[in-house]
Amino acid sequence: MPELPEVEALAAYLRERAVGRTVQRFEVSSFSALKTYDPPASAVAGLVVTAAGRHGKFLDLTLGGSDGLHLVVHLARAGWLHYRESFKSPAPLKPGSGPIAIRVRLDDESGFDLTEAGTQKSLAAYLVRDPAEVPGVSRLGPDALEVDRDQFAERLRSRRGQAKGVLTDQEVLAGIGNAYSDEILHVARMSPFALTHKLTDEQITTLFEAMRQVETDAVTRSVGQKAAELKGEKRAGMRVHARTGLPCPVCGDTVREVSFADKSLQYCPTCQTGGKPLADRRLSKLIR
Ligand SMILES: [Zn+2]
Repeated sequence: MPELPEVEALAAYLRERAVGRTVQRFEVSSFSALKTYDPPASAVAGLVVTAAGRHGKFLDLTLGGSDGLHLVVHLARAGWLHYRESFKSPAPLKPGSGPIAIRVRLDDESGFDLTEAGTQKSLAAYLVRDPAEVPGVSRLGPDALEVDRDQFAERLRSRRGQAKGVLTDQEVLAGIGNAYSDEILHVARMSPFALTHKLTDEQITTLFEAMRQVETDAVTRSVGQKAAELKGEKRAGMRVHARTGLPCPVCGDTVREVSFADKSLQYCPTCQTGGKPLADRRLSKLIR
């Protein structure tokens, strides 16, 4: 799933490439992807792209002036944005065909497709007058890269829970997802199951610094990359995430995994849990 650094990079790319251009055509191929019906999709054509930004993991394209519209997109787990220098065919998209959910054609023949791989369709696009009309946006906590150490402490302690779950809770902090939270906890040498309300001031500071380091490094690596290269860039920079069975780059121990029903986390026992492997939640549930 694209997280803060990738969405920031996509927004940066759109600022460079799409801002200032006029939307020629806004095509919706997957009707389940567009979650709003007023204003209608037909209202987009003719509007100038005036800004591109993000709210947590939501991408926000501003169309028109101050009374304009926002195309807000949550790429979900398998969604992506493909920028095209030139659309070969002027033919309109056929509804419900292939991975393309939405196509935006600009007046210089370039544009982009919002796509989603796989069968679980969860990419969500919203056409709204104010981004706060999007429920997921209005519930967001402050951006992970915009809090200072004390705000971070206050946010984290506002939830009783395990570090992994609290860090990825978008209402606590916006932008951190499954991949970078594994990395942050590894840099902080902290168990994913450490309880946030029991963290000492020193542990909070360590975790805050790890978060700043991991997220800013990833933004630096990602911004300037073309959308097509972002996924590889993300994978190449990982220390533990999605590296089950491989050696930890810090200590050489084997990276381990805990699986849940629909996701998993990775960690290094030596660096994070005093050498003890964590119980696999899925397995222990079966045994109980
Ligand atoms: Zn290690």
